[in-house]
Amino acid sequence: MKNFSKILLSKIEDFTRRKFIRLSELYSEAIKVCETIPNLKFASLFILEGEIIDFDLKAYFPTESFDENIKLLDDCINLGIVGKSLEFGTTEYLIKDESILLSIPLKSESGYKGILLIDFISKQLDDDIVNLLSLFGNILGNFINQKFILKDLEDSNSLLEQKIALKTMDINQNKRELEAIFNSVLTGIIIFDANTKKIIRANPVALELININNDEISEFYITEFLHNYSNILINNPHFSPFESEITTINKRSIPILRNTTYLNVGNKNIGIESFLDISVLKEAEKSLINANQILELKVMERTEDLQLLVHKLKNEITEREMAESELRRLFNKEKELNNLKTKFVSMVSHEFRTPLTIIRSSAQMLDKFRDNLSKHEIVSFYNKIMKSVDNMADLIENVIFIGKSESAEMKLNSTSIDIVSFCEQIIVDLKLSSDPNREIIFNYNFEDGTINSNNVFIDEKLLRLILYNLLSNAMKYSEKEKPIEFNMQIHNEKLLFEIIDFGIGIPLEEQTKIFTLFYRAENVGNITGTGLGLSVVVESLEKLGGKIELSSIINLGTKFIVTIPIKIMR
Ligand code: ADP
Repeated sequence: MKNFSKILLSKIEDFTRRKFIRLSELYSEAIKVCETIPNLKFASLFILEGEIIDFDLKAYFPTESFDENIKLLDDCINLGIVGKSLEFGTTEYLIKDESILLSIPLKSESGYKGILLIDFISKQLDDDIVNLLSLFGNILGNFINQKFILKDLEDSNSLLEQKIALKTMDINQNKRELEAIFNSVLTGIIIFDANTKKIIRANPVALELININNDEISEFYITEFLHNYSNILINNPHFSPFESEITTINKRSIPILRNTTYLNVGNKNIGIESFLDISVLKEAEKSLINANQILELKVMERTEDLQLLVHKLKNEITEREMAESELRRLFNKEKELNNLKTKFVSMVSHEFRTPLTIIRSSAQMLDKFRDNLSKHEIVSFYNKIMKSVDNMADLIENVIFIGKSESAEMKLNSTSIDIVSFCEQIIVDLKLSSDPNREIIFNYNFEDGTINSNNVFIDEKLLRLILYNLLSNAMKYSEKEKPIEFNMQIHNEKLLFEIIDFGIGIPLEEQTKIFTLFYRAENVGNITGTGLGLSVVVESLEKLGGKIELSSIINLGTKFIVTIPIKIMR
C-alpha cells in the first residue's frame, strides 16, 4: 500500500473512533479526511433531503469555493456518475482533463444518505483510493444514519418532555381545583384507607361536624365516627345514598344522608365517605309528624261533631219527611173523601130518585083510581111500592154500613146461628124484593158429620150483608131465565160460599178494580147500581177475617168464592 493510502486509512480509523456531538462537525471532519488525498482540487459532501432526490451541500473543500462545488455536483450528475452510484451503490469515476472525478455513495442500513464527490489531479486511478473511499462512504453513511436516528430520538424525546410538562401542569391545576372543591363543598368528606380503616384526611365540613382539628384527624379510624362497614359494602363500590348517623368526638349522634365509595389508587384501596347533615330536615320532619297527628286528632273531633250533626239533621229530615208524608196522606184522604162525597151525592140523587118516583106514581095511582082498579092491579102497585122501599132500604143499609166501617165504630157481634135456615131466609128475602120466580139453587155440604147447621158462631149481620150483596149482584147481572147457584160448605173450621151466575161477566182488566168504592165495570150497560155492594162485602170480610176470590169470563158468567173462618159450637 502506498504511503498516502496508509495515511488515508489511519485518518478513516481516527474518524471511526471519534464521537461527534453535532452533525455539522461530522460533515466537516469527513471533508478533512478527504483532504489527505494528494492533489485534491474539490471535495464536497451532499446530503439527500426528504423523499425526493434533493442534494444539500453540507461541507466542502476548499472552504472558499462553494459555487465550484455546486458546479461539481452538476457536472457529475450530467456525466452520469452520480446516477450510477446511487443506482448500483458503487463508487464511480471519470478521468477528465488530467483530473479524476469520483462519486462515492454514502450507504447505510436504511438506504443512501448522500454522496461524496472528489476531484483530484492524477493521470491514473489508484485502486486503494477507490476501495478506501468506498469504505469511508459506507462508514460515513452509517454515521449519518445513526445521527439522524439520534436526532429523531432527541426530537421525540423533547416533544415527550414538553407533553409531560404540560400534563404535569394540568395535573397540578386539577389538584388545586380538587383541593378547592374539597375545602369549599357543603358536603362532609372523609377519605380513609379501606383496608386499615385509618383516616387519611377530612374536609373542613367533616372536621367541624365531628369536632376535630385537621392535625389530629389522621390519628383516628373511620369506624369511630361512622358505622355499618360490612364486606358487602366494600365489595360493592357503587351504591346510592342512604340515611345514617355520624358520631361526633363528644359521642353525639347527628343524622346524615351518606354515600360511601371505594377506589383503587395504585395498589391502595381508598374509601370515601361523603355526607350531608340532615338534622334540620329531621327536626322539620318530626314537627311535621306532630302537626299531622294534632291535625288528625282535630279532624277526628270535627268528624265526630259533624257525624252528630249529620245524625241530628238526618233525624230532623226523617221527622220532617214523616210529617210531610202524613200531611200528604191526610191531604190525599181529604181529596179522596171530597171525591167520594161528590160521587155519593150523585149516586144518591140518582139511585133514590128512581124508587121514590115509582113509590110516588104507584101511590098516586092507588089514591086516584082506587075504585076503578082490579084487585090484581092494586096488588101490583102495592108490590111495586114494597120493592122500591126494599131497594132503598138495602141501599141505605149499605150506605150506613160504609159510613160506620169508615169511622171504625163497628164492633163484632157474633152469635150462634143455624146457617142453613139463615141462607134460606136470605134467598126468600131476595126473591121477595126482586123476582119471586127467580131460580136460586142452594146446595150445602158439611164434610164433618158432627157439625150441625145450628151451631155456627158468627156475626150474622155482616154475613147477611156479604151474601145479600153477592146474590143480588148475581141476579142483577144475569138474565131472569138463568139460574143462580149458591153453594155452601163447612170444612176445617171454615165457611165456604160459592155464588155462581151465567150473566154478563166482568172484563179481566177490571176484575181487581170492582172492589173499590163506587167503581162499576164498563159492561154494566143499563143495569142500575151504586158501586157500593162489593165494598161492603170486602169491608165485612175484613172484619170477619175472611177473603174473597173471583173468576169471571165475559158473557159466560161469574163465580165469587168467599172463605170465612168460624167457630163451631160442639
Ligand atoms: P153495583 O151496585 O154497581 O152492583 P157493586 O159494588 O155491587 O156495585 O159491584 C161493582 C161492580 O162489579 C158492578 O157495577 C159490576 O160492574 C160488577 N159486578 C159485580 N158483581 C157482578 C156479577 N155477578 N156479574 C157481573 N158484574 C158484576
